[in-house]
Amino acid sequence: MADALLAEAERAGARVTVLAVGTWLEQYPPMAQRIVRGGHDLGNHTMHHLDIAAMDASGAYSEIEGCAQRLRALTGSIGRWFRPSQTRYATPLPSCPPCSARRGPGRSSACTLGTPAP
Ligand SMILES: [Zn+2]
Repeated sequence: MADALLAEAERAGARVTVLAVGTWLEQYPPMAQRIVRGGHDLGNHTMHHLDIAAMDASGAYSEIEGCAQRLRALTGSIGRWFRPSQTRYATPLPSCPPCSARRGPGRSSACTLGTPAP
């Protein structure tokens, strides 16, 4: 199904952004390379697609980090996008609240996902 949609987009000359859930990546690991090789963007949509807004910062961080680790293992990159699960809007990674909370004021603006906790 996902492969057919990607192929159809490619036939039309379009590229898409796929916000993947970590458990889906675990179930279909070849899809990560398939997406990237097709010229599409692959981003983080948390590990288990739970209600991330209802979690505390460390629970939310581990949901995001779990997916980021799978993205990195499968493609060499955590991607450029994070979409929180069960919320309405997507945000660029550097402004994701768990990441900003861990960074704290005055720290580098680089995203800390996938790096060991300070
Ligand atoms: Zn979703």
